Amino acid sequence: MKFFKPDYEFDHFTDITIELLKKDNVTTIFSDLDSTLAAHDQLGDHDFTKWHEKLENNGIKLVVVSNNSQGRVDRFTKPFKIIGYGRCKKPTISTIRKIMHEISVKSSNSIFLGDQLFTDVLCGKRLGMKTVLVKPLGEEHEPWTVRWKRGLEASIKKRW
Ligand SMILES: [Mg+2]
Repeated sequence: MKFFKPDYEFDHFTDITIELLKKDNVTTIFSDLDSTLAAHDQLGDHDFTKWHEKLENNGIKLVVVSNNSQGRVDRFTKPFKIIGYGRCKKPTISTIRKIMHEISVKSSNSIFLGDQLFTDVLCGKRLGMKTVLVKPLGEEHEPWTVRWKRGLEASIKKRW
């Protein structure tokens, strides 16, 4: 099950440091929203604000790519003036490919961040990007469908 194995596994998005991004020549982070940057329906907190500031100061762009609605994405991204797309249909890649083309970003300078193997990590790998898996934020508030998938993920991880 190596296919699903992310390049990096961290507890929290703030573990992604500028040093790490520079080492991998990353100029753009494509990131999932729910349970990755904020718990379900939550907005960016203090940790996020600080982390995003550091990215901006170092010329690293954050692009939110979510399977949730555009409305949810906008509520999160607008206060930070981040580009964000809803209904991305991860792990399929056609929507995100289009976005990459529109904003002139290459896979080789991008990294994909998310909390789910079957949507985020798989999607990032299909796009030819390095991938980062983080522990889900606010797991207890997740819908049952997501919790069910976590069980499957756990069994795959055991075989790494
Ligand atoms: Mg998520």
